[in-house]
Amino acid sequence: MPRVLAIANQKGGVGKTTTAINLAASLAVLEKKTLLVDMDPQANATSGVGGTPGGEAERNIYRVLMEEVTAVEAIRKTALPYLHLLPASYDLIGAEIELVSMERRERRLAEALAALGEEYPVIIIDSPPSLGLLTVNALCAANSVIVPLQCEYYALEGISSLFRTIEQIRNGMNRDLTIEGVVLTMFDPRNNLAHQVAEEARNALKTQVFQTVIPRNVRLSEAPSYGRPIVLHAVASRGAQSYLELAREVVSRWNEKPTQ
Ligand code: ATP
Ligand code: MG
Repeated sequence: MPRVLAIANQKGGVGKTTTAINLAASLAVLEKKTLLVDMDPQANATSGVGGTPGGEAERNIYRVLMEEVTAVEAIRKTALPYLHLLPASYDLIGAEIELVSMERRERRLAEALAALGEEYPVIIIDSPPSLGLLTVNALCAANSVIVPLQCEYYALEGISSLFRTIEQIRNGMNRDLTIEGVVLTMFDPRNNLAHQVAEEARNALKTQVFQTVIPRNVRLSEAPSYGRPIVLHAVASRGAQSYLELAREVVSRWNEKPTQ
């Protein structure tokens, strides 16, 4: 069974897309055939791996959700042989409203990805900064969720409503949904507050917090402007090394809990 991971946090700018791109790319470097699915109308994950967020004529996730094309038809290759992309387009914003009146509105992504069978052992879904239908589709399609948490004031504030949403989805539409872990992002060791937030998160969320911490690293923020994941932009950087380490930690957690 494929591992389907949703990267979610309704708080904006916490490192969801950076984590989706670079965790997916790192898993691809570890020779796991990985599909990156962009469920955010901002389409940052798409452009971040060199895709162009096309308009309506393009094959993209919007048209997959509308059932006009299949996932297979919309998937593209990237510069990494083991990483493929199911791109977003800016018109995906319309899906949030259009889906409301459609049948199986929460399960469209789950069904589209299920049709891929065993083609991709790992699927990573980037989601938008809201708990609307696009995020709900991501959570219904996933086996587990990774929550990026930015090490700053208010970081923990929205997390209880995210956990409530995950709980509701587990009780209703997706019984097997688990929390894979919380990853601390943009950590600046010179900032006392960052240490405090990290400690608070570990106290509150215990082992759900990954050991690996993603540092604030300028190479990570500039890589998207080259349309490349960090492993192709600056593999020696601390940013690249930390995402490779996160990928190894994720894989070792999987090895402890094999799927049925
Ligand atoms: P949104 O909610 O808008 O989708 P997001 O949660 O996906 O945002 P990102 O786009 O990944 O967040 O990150 C927000 C900004 O912070 C981006 O400009 C990104 O390049 C930068 N950034 C993310 N992680 C790091 C990091 N570890 N070091 C430096 N900059 C980072
Ligand atoms: Mg994003």
